[in-house]
Amino acid sequence: MALLIRNGEIVTVGARVHGDIYVENETITQIGKNLEAPPDAEIIDATGKLVFPGFIDPHVHIYLPFMATFAKDTHETGSIAALIGGTTTYIEMCCPNRNDDALEGYQLWKSKAEGKSACDYAFHMSVTKFVKETESQLRQIVADGTASFKIFLAYKNFFGVDDGEMYQTLELAKRLRVIVTAHCENAELVARLQQKLLVEGKTGPEWHEPSRPESVEAEGTGRFATFLENTGATGYVVHLSCEKALRAALDAKSRGVKIHVESVLPHLLLDKSYAERPGVEGMKHVMSPPLRAKHNQAALWNALAAGSIDTIGTDHCPFDTEQKLLGKDSFVNIPNGIPGIEERVNLLYTHGVKRGRLDLDRFVDAASTRAAKLFGLFPRKGTIAVGSDADLVVYDTNYRGVVSAKAQHTNNDYNGFEGMPIEGRPSVVTVRGKVQVRDGKFVGERGRGKMLKREPTHF
Ligand SMILES: [Zn+2]
Repeated sequence: MALLIRNGEIVTVGARVHGDIYVENETITQIGKNLEAPPDAEIIDATGKLVFPGFIDPHVHIYLPFMATFAKDTHETGSIAALIGGTTTYIEMCCPNRNDDALEGYQLWKSKAEGKSACDYAFHMSVTKFVKETESQLRQIVADGTASFKIFLAYKNFFGVDDGEMYQTLELAKRLRVIVTAHCENAELVARLQQKLLVEGKTGPEWHEPSRPESVEAEGTGRFATFLENTGATGYVVHLSCEKALRAALDAKSRGVKIHVESVLPHLLLDKSYAERPGVEGMKHVMSPPLRAKHNQAALWNALAAGSIDTIGTDHCPFDTEQKLLGKDSFVNIPNGIPGIEERVNLLYTHGVKRGRLDLDRFVDAASTRAAKLFGLFPRKGTIAVGSDADLVVYDTNYRGVVSAKAQHTNNDYNGFEGMPIEGRPSVVTVRGKVQVRDGKFVGERGRGKMLKREPTHF
C-alpha cells in the first residue's frame, strides 16, 4: 500500500526542507511539495514535526551468552524496544566465543533473528580466534552479506584475541575490504588489576572502573591503531569512553590511519559515581569500558559535535537485577551491560540537540547516516532520498516525558537512565513503508525485519 507523509520538516545530513514524502512498495518514490496520493493511500500529517531517516544503532547485543548467563532480550522484545525509540535498523554483535565454531555460531545468531525481528538488522561477525579454517569461514560469512568484523582486545580466553590473531584478522579484512570493529582494552592489564584488587578485599562494583582504568583503554586503542597503520585495514573503535582513548584514536587519525570512533549513550550521560552506588544499584551500572570520571563527558560531546566521534550506539545488553547479583561477592562476576536501545535517540536528541551540544545535522549523522556509510548500508538506509528504503521517523519535539523502567519495552526490570527527562519522541516510525510505531506503541507487524546483506566497501 502507498503511504504519504505530508508537510513535515525533512531532516537529512546537509539539508532541511519542508515537504511531503511518498512511498510505494517499501521505497521512497517521490519527495516534494503538495504530492498527490491515490484514495487508498495511508496519509500521515507531519505538520509541525521533524522527519528523520530511520535511526541505526551500530552496536547492540540481543542474543548473548555471557558471564554464565544470557542477555535478556530476544529479537521480538529488542526490536520492538528499538522501534519505539526510533531505531529502524540495528547491527548485532555475533559473538561465538573461542571454543565455538565460527560458522556454526554465525548460523545460530542468524537463526535467533530470522522471522522474529520487527526492524531490519545486520551483524558484525566476531573473530574470537584465528585458526586454520578461519579465513575460509570468514570469506563465506562476508559472501553471505556480513561485511564487518569485530575483535575483542579484552576478555582474555573467552572472546579476546592476541596480537597475532589481531594481525591476521586485519590483514584478511584488508584483502576482503571489510571494516573491523574493536573493543580496545588491554586484556593482560585488566586480568592483573582485577586480581590485585580482589586480593586486597576490594570486591564491590565501585572497583570495576579501577580494574580497567582509562590508561588500559588508551593502550588498547593505540595498539589497535598501530595494527591498522601497519596492515592498511580500516578500523572502528567501539564504545570509546574517555579522553585518553579519544586522544589515541585522533592521533592515529591525524597521521592518516583509517580509524573511526563510536561512543555509546552511557558514556555520554552517566559517570562512574553511578557504579559507586551501594550494592546492586552500582552493579546495574557496570559495563566495559566502565563509566568514567565526569570530566570525560565534555570531551566526548565536543568530539561528537566536531564529527571526530563518528557514531553513537548503545552497546545494548540487558541483564536484570537477579543476573547483576551474580557479582555480589566479586565485581568480576557482574554481567556487563547498560541497556539503552529504546532510549538512545530520545536521550541524544534531548541532551545533545536540545541542550545545545549537537546541531541537528550532526545528530542525524551520528545516530543514522554515518553508520549507514561506514557499514555498507548507504543510501538504502541512513537518508531520505528517492530510491531509499522508507524507514522514516516522524518526530514530535513537543513531547515531554521521563525514562522509566515501568514503561520500557526492553526485557529488563530496571533502567540505567531512570528518571532522565526526554524532550521529544517518535510519533510515527515506519520500516520499509509500514507503520510499526505510533506514539510510543508498537502497532505493526512482528517479524517484518529482514537481514540486510552488505557489500564490502573499504578500499
Ligand atoms: Zn558490545
